[in-house]
Amino acid sequence: MRNGRHKTVVVAGGAGFLGSHLCDALLAEGMQVLCLDSFLTGRRQNIQHLARDPRFDVVESDVCDPMPAAVARARPDAVFNLACAASPPHYQANPEHTLLTCVLGTRHLLRLAEDAGARFLQASTSEVYGDPEMHPQREDYRGCVSPTGPRACYDEGKRAAETLAFDYARAGRADVRVARIFNTYGPRMRADDGRVVSNVVSQALAGEDITLYGDGRQTRSFCYVDDLIAGLLRLGAEDVRPPGPVNLGNPEELRVAALVQRVLALTGSPSKVVQRPLPVDDPQRRRPDIALARALLDWQPRTDLDSGLRATIAWFERDLCWQQAVRPPANDDGVQEAPLMLGLRGAR
Ligand code: NAD
Repeated sequence: MRNGRHKTVVVAGGAGFLGSHLCDALLAEGMQVLCLDSFLTGRRQNIQHLARDPRFDVVESDVCDPMPAAVARARPDAVFNLACAASPPHYQANPEHTLLTCVLGTRHLLRLAEDAGARFLQASTSEVYGDPEMHPQREDYRGCVSPTGPRACYDEGKRAAETLAFDYARAGRADVRVARIFNTYGPRMRADDGRVVSNVVSQALAGEDITLYGDGRQTRSFCYVDDLIAGLLRLGAEDVRPPGPVNLGNPEELRVAALVQRVLALTGSPSKVVQRPLPVDDPQRRRPDIALARALLDWQPRTDLDSGLRATIAWFERDLCWQQAVRPPANDDGVQEAPLMLGLRGAR
């Protein structure tokens, strides 16, 4: 509480995958939460369970536009900036808007924090390391990013957003924290977002061919959403004084082909694996060095891969059924078909 009122936190991108979990966690901590979202990639169903909570509000607006009066008036204690499409097909659909969201949107939110004297947390990304030559990636590694490739609108946008945030911090204009988030998965990911876990799980559940980009030997480190949110809350806490950006992710490295095998085993799916060429500028290896997060935040991921995948698969089963109920697909003859839905092997 501050001056007899609940502390107020603005969560930009609060209707998205990570943002909606962050809203849940902040409300559970007793905060007043104002979700600012354009619903570009976020979904109303991610936050509909919060609709009756008197401490939760939503303002629909694009962060590239001037700050709505309702948000400026809120005089938040903290601003979390998660607003940005995060999956390649979504952020590449309108690259100019992605870049502006990162730069102009971050500027609007930094100004909001400056005016209110609020803490500001920027959701940055492991993509600022590009296709890294240093392994695992430490925060002082400067990255290997193509400034002109199809991923640049996001990678360079996020780098510029960090630049802006630290310029505000150096000038004493805002108390800034930057989380470099590595691949995170869990309930509320969108089946159509083109990220590896959502692709593989939704294809396995539907009994469709599983697309494996490249030979599957490229690695990723997958962090379960609850762990990531715990890290964001710690990094955003009043008592923390980060020296710079902080990696948040799971240091356990896994080949993408091994992830596919785990999902097939857990779903019992008969899906076949089909190889496709690796997308342009796709990083070969990704693994965070989280020594700084461990020391500074006393944080590390706690959820093992199988537990996280089971929770994710169970959620996707429900979500795909729900979507099916709303929008039944038509086959070539225009006849609506029910999808093949497989169960979660051994989990229930
Ligand atoms: P998401 O697409 O589910 O959520 C992004 C949210 O931001 C959505 O609700 C979307 O509607 C909103 N948004 C996008 N552009 C906006 C704009 N211009 N104005 C207002 N709202 C806008 O993605 P996510 O996975 O939840 O990612 C959240 C943040 O975390 C992003 O900034 C992303 O870059 C970062 N991040 C995520 C991951 C991950 O693995 N999920 C990894 C690294 C970084």
